[in-house]
Amino acid sequence: AKKILEVRDLTVGFPREHGLLKATDHVSFSIEEGQTLCIVGESGSGKSVTSMAIMRLIDYAGGIIAEGKITFDGEELTTKKQSEMNRIRGERLAMIFQDPMSALNPVFSVGDQIAESLRIHKGMNAKDAWNKAVEMLKLVGIPEAEIRAKQYPFEMSGGMCQRVVIAMALACDPELIIADEPTTALDVTIQAQILDLLRRLKRELRTATLLITHDMGVAAEMADRIAVMYAGTIVEEGTVDEVFRTPRHPYTVGLLRSIPRLEEEPGSELYTIQGSIPGIGELPQGCRFHPRCPHAMSRCFIEEPSLLAAKGKEGHRAACWLEGIPEVSTR
Ligand code: SF4
Ligand code: MG
Repeated sequence: AKKILEVRDLTVGFPREHGLLKATDHVSFSIEEGQTLCIVGESGSGKSVTSMAIMRLIDYAGGIIAEGKITFDGEELTTKKQSEMNRIRGERLAMIFQDPMSALNPVFSVGDQIAESLRIHKGMNAKDAWNKAVEMLKLVGIPEAEIRAKQYPFEMSGGMCQRVVIAMALACDPELIIADEPTTALDVTIQAQILDLLRRLKRELRTATLLITHDMGVAAEMADRIAVMYAGTIVEEGTVDEVFRTPRHPYTVGLLRSIPRLEEEPGSELYTIQGSIPGIGELPQGCRFHPRCPHAMSRCFIEEPSLLAAKGKEGHRAACWLEGIPEVSTR
């Protein structure tokens, strides 16, 4: 299948007096047509920085792309001017963020906002753009879309606003959607509804998607492939089955063990990975995960493992010196 996005050796940092504070270090992955890749990890792992670098919004956050390439549908993004990125963002590269309110303009009706994007990017006239906006609101399950289109964001609930944001992202028929924690700011029941919607749209539209989440449960439901990030690097990558059934990195095992389960006894304590993620600029020597790893060996304190495939499993890669994880059980 055709690669929509290819990220190679992406190193993003924040320049400081004493040097570059690296937020990601040689991150590589790709997304094919129709595929959803989930990047999972705790906050501070470099997931959002990676997505902001792809959209080149990192420039506005004081960060720089120090190394690497980002190839989007054959075009190199790292060298584009912001004026060129403005044409790509919103049309070919759509974004869905955590907080729908901040993505919407409070002074325009939601229909007008979607219609405006269609006029700018697709050159539609006002009437066609409005009709298409209403159609998009229907697609994302907003009842009475003709009436709702005339409402302002403050007249809608958070869940409805996130549906509007999703409608806006999809309106121009983008080649790639980047969604950064799209359900995290919502109530649990609304989260489930938005996840259902995203799953349905994934089935119907097959738009290539990069989904950023800290939630392994969300990744399990949405992903074709999963990349686990830790302290600025990818530590494991594979299909959703490979990562969930035969995890190869102790950090992934820890994340899987900390998923809440229905059959868990009420009040029973959830597993948590001991310690916390190192801050950028405070990385330990050797394997970045060694201070928290239950399997750390002397080698792990000195040498950093690189992301390698196991024999005969090309797509399933892990950065760990272990030959196999002693207890594969994720319980
Ligand atoms: Fe643990 Fe060593 Fe593997 Fe790092 S390389 S995850 S410290 S076993
Ligand atoms: Mg984040």
